[in-house]
Amino acid sequence: MSHLIKPILDGTYPKVSYGKGVFLYDEHGKDYLDASSGAVTVSVGHGVQEITDVLENQAKRVSFVYRSQFTSEAAERLAEKIYKLSNGHLSYSFFVNSGTEATETAMKMALQHFQEKGQGSKLKILSRWMSYHGITIGSLSMSGHSIRRTRFVPLLQDYPTVSAPYCYRCPYQMEFPSCRLRCADELERAIIRIGEEHIAAFIAEPIIGAAGAAITPPPGYYERIRDICDRYNILFIADEVMTGLGRTGKMFGYDHWEAKPDIVTLGKGLGAGYTPIAAAVATEEVILPIKKGSKLVMSGHTFSANPLSCATALSVLQYVEKHNLVDESAQKGAYLKKELLKLKERFSIIGDVRGEGLLLGVEFVEDKKTKEPFPTSAQLTNQIIQTAMQNGLLLYPSAAGIEGVRGDAVIISPPFTIKEGE
Ligand code: PLP
Repeated sequence: MSHLIKPILDGTYPKVSYGKGVFLYDEHGKDYLDASSGAVTVSVGHGVQEITDVLENQAKRVSFVYRSQFTSEAAERLAEKIYKLSNGHLSYSFFVNSGTEATETAMKMALQHFQEKGQGSKLKILSRWMSYHGITIGSLSMSGHSIRRTRFVPLLQDYPTVSAPYCYRCPYQMEFPSCRLRCADELERAIIRIGEEHIAAFIAEPIIGAAGAAITPPPGYYERIRDICDRYNILFIADEVMTGLGRTGKMFGYDHWEAKPDIVTLGKGLGAGYTPIAAAVATEEVILPIKKGSKLVMSGHTFSANPLSCATALSVLQYVEKHNLVDESAQKGAYLKKELLKLKERFSIIGDVRGEGLLLGVEFVEDKKTKEPFPTSAQLTNQIIQTAMQNGLLLYPSAAGIEGVRGDAVIISPPFTIKEGE
């Protein structure tokens, strides 16, 4: 009898033995092509010795200090690296242990920014449906992931107010460009209804992951969002936990648009699965009022900015740079998308193929013309994922479809180091 709580309590799961490159091997020696990078995490592949050497050396030197007592060379250098990768835009990093915590920290930073400027009534954060920002009560409150929310609705403090920019199933049954980005303008209407004096920030994933299978907004969308946020004195938080650090073929997902966020969250690809680490990263303008005021960002976890995770993440980012992996993600993503589009022509159940770089989504439908999903929602996704796994291919499920509750979709997101043949 197993005493471990697994995702499905009595489900059967192979026991992993080791990983190398884009493959995982179970205890019986069966190999699995990790085409989802786990949970869109292992961007540099498994078993990279350059990274495990750094991890080992840092563990020997010092693996933990409490951030209220010490800073460390590893944490300082990692923050500097993120600053440089953002071309000087993201000046300050707050390190945490998961994407969820990064969301919570970003939310608190936004509220505190306005409190320290004497605008303490700005306490609300707006978000979109078909989104995922994390699993704790605060971050789940922001998340438009209906399946993950419904059981806990009484605990949640808020709900999303804005539709997703889901062109395949446009919330207005319109088409780009004649829609004139009506879904982006919805943010403005929400602000007017609620009152800008109550709103601190708007949070969105540049390209939607778990709740949208790589839904990619049309050109001009984030420029419009940025403009609305500026006009109403509202911070724009880009949740780059999934999209950040090369996953979409650019360093940051927001780089696909001419719109820079005020706060960015990073996770997944930051430690690339070699260590649990994530970050809320902010511009100078966001932090300045706090610097001048209380001088303390009111958040933190025991393991925040621990040297072991920071050194490991730094070596991941150095590896990404050294091997030009952001460009690799762009090029291989374009190749994979081209091949997936060929499958779309061949198979009637593939309704849409979308995404950028190596964050690609495939949405399945029963009827291609009407885009009607299969009646057994999510069952098909599970079947596809299980059959693929039996055949040695790992995919990631996504809750795309009608309102993110009726439909089937998977994310394909291999490590950037994958080769064409693989
Ligand atoms: N934000 C986004 C965009 C995510 O995709 C995820 C996880 O899938 C999270 C936040 C939460 O991150 P974590 O699972 O590390 O807490």
